[in-house]
Amino acid sequence: MKIRRLFGRAFVAGAIQDDTLITLRDGAVAEVTQSATAPADAFRTRGVIAPGFIDIHVHGGDGADFMDADPQANARVIEFHARHGTTALAATTLSASRADLKKAAGAIARTSSPRGAEICGVHLEGPYINRGRAGAQDRSSIRQADIEELGLLIAAAPELHWLMTLAPEIAGARELIEEFRGRVTFSIGHTEADHATAVAALEWGASHFTHLFNAMTPLQHREPGVVGAALASADATAELIADGIHVHPAVLRIAVRAMPHRIALVTDAIRACGMPDGTYKLYGYDVTVADGSARLADGTLAGSVLTMCSAVENMVDLAGLPIELVLPLATEVPARILGVHARKGRIARKFDGDLVVLDEKLHIEHVFVRGEKVS
Ligand SMILES: [Zn+2]
Repeated sequence: MKIRRLFGRAFVAGAIQDDTLITLRDGAVAEVTQSATAPADAFRTRGVIAPGFIDIHVHGGDGADFMDADPQANARVIEFHARHGTTALAATTLSASRADLKKAAGAIARTSSPRGAEICGVHLEGPYINRGRAGAQDRSSIRQADIEELGLLIAAAPELHWLMTLAPEIAGARELIEEFRGRVTFSIGHTEADHATAVAALEWGASHFTHLFNAMTPLQHREPGVVGAALASADATAELIADGIHVHPAVLRIAVRAMPHRIALVTDAIRACGMPDGTYKLYGYDVTVADGSARLADGTLAGSVLTMCSAVENMVDLAGLPIELVLPLATEVPARILGVHARKGRIARKFDGDLVVLDEKLHIEHVFVRGEKVS
């Protein structure tokens, strides 16, 4: 039996509490108590102990990409992001050929590392999206919705949670959503749908929006677009890329105010994340990284080089939101979307021992994945 105790300020039950003693046993949280004094064997933290971050939209990092379809490359990705605070994630793919997607899904299912974030889900970003809002996705791989193909992909990793970004205006989208609703979290994205179509897609069973504001029809006061459908929805969730480039900080704040408890911070990180500036491959496309952004030759944004800890920091420093409001967007909300909220996303008894310790600048001091210190 392996026991580890942490003592310090901790984000528990929605508030930062002083003098919190967290006991980890065999990779899980055994006990959370308030204590005037720290036991002699406790690891005293200077910063704030928060639940580990959960990233539901991440393609790669440290030179590797989930589209490489290589468990060893995948391990680099999950170990890199663990060092930056992500303790669970949804491995995210791109629009690709049938064969390449199947290989990527198979490799994701075979990936794990004791020093890496836990892969809790697969996020298929495409290929059933709109060519007109493809962003950096391979246009020749974009195709109409295919029930048989999605069924085969899910069969490659049936134990994982599946998310799929799709454009509801694409042929076959409604049939696909109705076939797999309950089994797949459908996310509206890379879409030119009008407001009415986006609202209809929520009725068919879609429940999430991929990188809100990016690659979708904007909010206009007489045609509220896909963005309006998200902001006005009763219970849908939405992703935000909080790098300060994809979305203006004021708009980050607007989104959180309009959709409290329903925003999940994501990185959309690509293989260049954590690497020096330069040119990198994104499923065959050249992406150039400079000044904190990743772009195609024509200037189109191509994912990001963001980490979850920087996303949290930006929501506080750029968007001006209180840390108590921001932390759930990186923990509880994505845990719910991935269906792991009974064991991840909060510091509570019987939850996984996934913790980050943040210093006063909100930089990573330490990270624990299932009780093991990885940073
Ligand atoms: Zn993406």
